[in-house]
Amino acid sequence: MRICADPHVHTIASGHAHSTVLENAAAAKALGHSFVFLTDHAPSIPGAPGELYFHSLCKVLPESCAGLPLVRGCEVNLLNDQGELDLKDATLDRLEWVICSMHAPCIPPRDPDYHTRAWLKAAQNPRIDVIGHLGDQRFFCDYERAVRAFAENGKVVEINSHSFVVRPGSGENCPEIARLCAKYRVPVVVSSDAHFAERVGAFDHALRMLEEIRFPEELVLNADPGRFASFLSKRTGREFPL
Ligand SMILES: [Zn+2]
Ligand SMILES: [Zn+2]
Repeated sequence: MRICADPHVHTIASGHAHSTVLENAAAAKALGHSFVFLTDHAPSIPGAPGELYFHSLCKVLPESCAGLPLVRGCEVNLLNDQGELDLKDATLDRLEWVICSMHAPCIPPRDPDYHTRAWLKAAQNPRIDVIGHLGDQRFFCDYERAVRAFAENGKVVEINSHSFVVRPGSGENCPEIARLCAKYRVPVVVSSDAHFAERVGAFDHALRMLEEIRFPEELVLNADPGRFASFLSKRTGREFPL
């Protein structure tokens, strides 16, 4: 399986990442990717930029960078089981790609029921496109209920390759999540969650797992440039010529 874009990438704006938009774009270009993404951490991660950064993102940054279409998004934080997020609706409405994740500094891990309720709320939020690193054991939940809700609400589930290294339990939980995505026909994206340009496109762990479980390639949105372009066009109203 060949992946045509890395849809989860951070820049120095995130506060604990080390490359610029231009450096990430050059890395994507060198890898032969068809798109470049920008998904910095939302404000409640310590050191992350404020509301204005995201509010003005699509005004400040052009639609392409280093000759690639630039998709301007964020990684928003799920804050509680009421489904609250740390960016305003009006800000999210201006972005082109919204990953929603749970991070311990923003939502202290509780019990599986709490985490499940939080994901069910996220599933119902039309401003969220992608469910980020769901396999984190600290936020273990009822994956079957969650993935079914993602299917019902048209969400994309991320298979985060970096999770296999840094998020305990991902090696066991991610195959289960991927099998449920196949069962309920939920599209997935493979991502690196790069915090440094040289990590853009590092998909090995995720791809190995998907191969091992014989995950249906047609459900991997970013395994085909045409498939991903048509999804992104529908999402953003922009054209993505390949
Ligand atoms: Zn994250
Ligand atoms: Zn991230």
